[in-house]
Amino acid sequence: MLRFFGGWLAAMTAMLLFICPSSQAAEPPQKAVEPPQSVSILLYHRLGPDHADDMTVTTPVVESQLKLIQERGYHVIPLKSLLAALADPAAPLPERSVVLTADDGHKTVYTDLFPLIKKYQIPVTLFIYPSAISNPSAPYAMTWEQLAEMKASGLVDIQSHTFWHPNFKIEKKRLAPAAYEKFTQDQLVKSKTVLEQKLGIKVDQLAWPFGIYDDQLIQWAQAAGYVAAYTIDRRAVTRADKMMALPRSIVTDADRGARFEALLTAPK
Ligand SMILES: [Zn+2]
Repeated sequence: MLRFFGGWLAAMTAMLLFICPSSQAAEPPQKAVEPPQSVSILLYHRLGPDHADDMTVTTPVVESQLKLIQERGYHVIPLKSLLAALADPAAPLPERSVVLTADDGHKTVYTDLFPLIKKYQIPVTLFIYPSAISNPSAPYAMTWEQLAEMKASGLVDIQSHTFWHPNFKIEKKRLAPAAYEKFTQDQLVKSKTVLEQKLGIKVDQLAWPFGIYDDQLIQWAQAAGYVAAYTIDRRAVTRADKMMALPRSIVTDADRGARFEALLTAPK
């Protein structure tokens, strides 16, 4: 009888041992959620000694940001490398990578950012609206000679930001549909043509002025020969993003230390 009871106890213990792990397994698996693969595209406008406005990042802050990128083991990759990875569904997005861009062709991109580009040997893409370049009524902008010099460094790629940076929302309200279509196509085509002729480059990327775009604008931009376009949505690019509306994060003077580092990591 005792032997029988002992056997029964052993059987119950074995059952309990069996039940307990299985009841644990019934809980939701505590698997670490992998963040989606992403690459941030950072966007600068103006540099300089003073924080003149919201679009200015002071030059020492930009340099500290470039140092932080290096210290944290990030690689600054050319925008074209990110596009190539996005175009190949089998390729992983580049790890610990970041892309740098600067819009509008402000003269401080030449005087302040270009020396840093050379010092740190980093690739940068500039989005330019050609109407301002070497234009006496736009003294804030760079000259064609400065753009050519930056291009010749081999570190700077130059792409389109339309011809004169219109606000497409305002123009759509202001113009009749046919006139709006012609206006938009001129902005898209003329920018590409002038940049290609003046600098001897191929232009097939577009930064939407003020980040404004819609399906119609995307269609016209594609018809004009653009294969990728960029917004200002302040998050990192993932494979879920459309090639004609890839987000970029505007960098501000307040983006220092951990706040800047957060711009480099996962999508918001
Ligand atoms: Zn702009």
